[in-house]
Amino acid sequence: MSTETSGGTATGMDLQDEARKHLWMHFSRMGGYDDEHQIPIITRGEGAYVWDDKGNRYLDGLSGLFCVNAGHGRTELAEAAARQYEELDFFVIWSYAHPRAIELASKLASLTPGDLNKVFFTNGGAESVESAIKLSRNYHRMRGKGQKTKIIAREVAYHGTTLGALSATGITELRSQFEPLAPGGCHVPNTNLYRHPDDRDPMILAEAIDERICFEGPETVAAVILEPVQNAGGCFVPPDGYFQRVREICDEHDVLLISDEVICAWGRLGHFFACDRFGYQPDIITTAKALTSANVPMGAMIASDKLAAPFAEGNNSFAHGFTFAGHPVAAAVALANIEIYEKEDLCGHVLAKEGEFRAMLETLRDIPIVGDVRGAGFFQAIELVKDQGTKETFEGMEAENLLRGFLSQELYRRGLICRADDRGDPVIQLAPPLICDTEQFQEMHDILRPVLEEASTRMVN
Ligand code: PLP
Repeated sequence: MSTETSGGTATGMDLQDEARKHLWMHFSRMGGYDDEHQIPIITRGEGAYVWDDKGNRYLDGLSGLFCVNAGHGRTELAEAAARQYEELDFFVIWSYAHPRAIELASKLASLTPGDLNKVFFTNGGAESVESAIKLSRNYHRMRGKGQKTKIIAREVAYHGTTLGALSATGITELRSQFEPLAPGGCHVPNTNLYRHPDDRDPMILAEAIDERICFEGPETVAAVILEPVQNAGGCFVPPDGYFQRVREICDEHDVLLISDEVICAWGRLGHFFACDRFGYQPDIITTAKALTSANVPMGAMIASDKLAAPFAEGNNSFAHGFTFAGHPVAAAVALANIEIYEKEDLCGHVLAKEGEFRAMLETLRDIPIVGDVRGAGFFQAIELVKDQGTKETFEGMEAENLLRGFLSQELYRRGLICRADDRGDPVIQLAPPLICDTEQFQEMHDILRPVLEEASTRMVN
């Protein structure tokens, strides 16, 4: 942890105390905070780093949850927002349009593959997924196939928390508290190649989708939703040819393919849209987060001309929307953000540097607790195991003690923000801003190695 800059506030408020009293933090165990375990309060960001209220500096190895891809503190984005506030602060895109929404829709259509030309703005990832599910159902209904309502997703995948998106999310603990969910969510195995039996062709993971569609009855299935690289579980990459086979299966059964790129788009895997990395053509892309480098909330569902066509006929409309979606300031920031990507060739940088980033992580494999290193682009995970040979995992209280009792706190204490996660088997995930380079890779290594070595000593011996 370094303490270069102080990040105080001018409010005079006891932020720690007020946060505990009033701020309901998301996915957080609010009862776990006390004077010993304080809420981390982040007050400032610049480039790949953020500072807390005590002036401590951290390497933001998670880009603020896969969001701030262009790095923190981009004045270009602040300036674009300020210019837009002066020109047009707000107008809805319900029955009206405004220049920035039009320009951004046109820009997104130019960046997506094939005929993904229709851009439906949202305010975030779950709204994008929700919109994609509703469009899939509605599209089939308009073609006289109203029975096609089910959505096939993968186990342990996260697609958002609204009730529709949650029915696609494959994480039992997130679903069970809120059941009954929107009906129709069906799950198939994910592409966890580390735990896939050596003697079985990984392409059975694609065939599992075919089997599930047939089991449900193709006339009842609307869409398959998949992330290019699955986040939850720890950066599961697809086997070669997986998406090509899934595309064939979807076409065979008149089922739509949704590429959920809430994380994987915007250079995270070295391309504007990650389906391009794996060479497949989805019917819908859902995205959010780094579309604006998270400087303002914005998401989008981008659909093919084919899907939008029925809604352009006669009096038809897609009866769905959100007041703030396509907000002029968010659209102006997104346009400026994409300009940064292009000017600085952030996608090219990721492709050029992902090998070096990965090689740094691979050097940690000698630590007994490191079972696997996997991922793509600037989106990598380290899976932690009890035994490298047998791949025995940490479960229950052991996983709890390892991740929450030690790793999260210790990595943070030493100045690295990353994700220690056990929605599947325990992993540490790293997804730094795309401006990161050798210096930040080394810094990550210098924090990860001693912490993982200590964890290893504590847990394995
Ligand atoms: N889909 C994927 C793949 C995600 O990773 C996320 C969030 O991390 C979502 C959807 C939901 O996005 P949001 O939190 O913006 O609603």
